[in-house]
Amino acid sequence: MDIVLFGKPGAGKGTQAPKLAQALGVPTLATGDVLRAAVREGTRRGLEAKAYMDRGDLVPDEVILGIMQEALSAGDAARGSVLDGVVRTTPQAEGLERVLRGLGRKVDAVLVFDIDDEEIVRRLSGRTVCDTCQTPYTGRTAGEACTRPGCTGKLVRRKDDDPEAIRNRLAVYQRQTAPVLDWYRGNGARIAVVDAVGAPEEVTRRALGALDGKGGKGP
Ligand SMILES: [Zn+2]
Repeated sequence: MDIVLFGKPGAGKGTQAPKLAQALGVPTLATGDVLRAAVREGTRRGLEAKAYMDRGDLVPDEVILGIMQEALSAGDAARGSVLDGVVRTTPQAEGLERVLRGLGRKVDAVLVFDIDDEEIVRRLSGRTVCDTCQTPYTGRTAGEACTRPGCTGKLVRRKDDDPEAIRNRLAVYQRQTAPVLDWYRGNGARIAVVDAVGAPEEVTRRALGALDGKGGKGP
């Protein structure tokens, strides 16, 4: 089973991907990790990608897809995968379909972690980090003292977690992703929308239920 994950930044996709992968008995493939591994191992495609990176250029989609193809054919991934952050644009969705078709496979489901923008702003803007020891906190206010023994640091909010920066990232996601989901719908892919608000274990349960065709909401 090959599953593509979608979710706004802050929807908890990174937390859910390994849990789903473990439950399904397949690995998680994330573009960044797969790319770094190919470069480290010096595969033919990895060396090709490294040449672009060394020049400070973006690695083209075709090279990334070649690397994804290598990863999808190797080890446990030959039986299926949870694809996290692999598809962000329509050309990438088309490319992935081509690669999977070449392996006699297809995207079996597109899993969308659904959450309100305001809930994400609340979640992310509630994160702070100690300016000295970098310990992350949730539910504390910027300016409070770090509570790690011996640390005299103060809690600050990362610039990325500023409400305006978050809304900006959400707008980019909306602009890029909405057309990709439309493309999948048009291609008859199964799209399962999962309520991403709740305890992580609960969200995992909902996601697995949606993949089984139970629970979850329709497209
Ligand atoms: Zn500290």
